[in-house]
Amino acid sequence: MHTVDVTCPSCYEVFSAPCPHFDELPSDVDYDCEICCRPLRIYFDHSDVDVQATAYGLGDSGPYG
Ligand SMILES: [Zn+2]
Repeated sequence: MHTVDVTCPSCYEVFSAPCPHFDELPSDVDYDCEICCRPLRIYFDHSDVDVQATAYGLGDSGPYG
């Protein structure tokens, strides 16, 4: 499975999260940080062939507001 490195908004550690299928992008998913286990959301999007992942806290405004 394809994974993308994301930075946790709570502990700022970097971890790899499984990326949704390319056809499903852009996608906004719930996830728990693998380092501090705090809940966060990850917004996946792609440009050309690269997938980008942006992690943000539940209380923060993400790309979807
Ligand atoms: Zn964390």
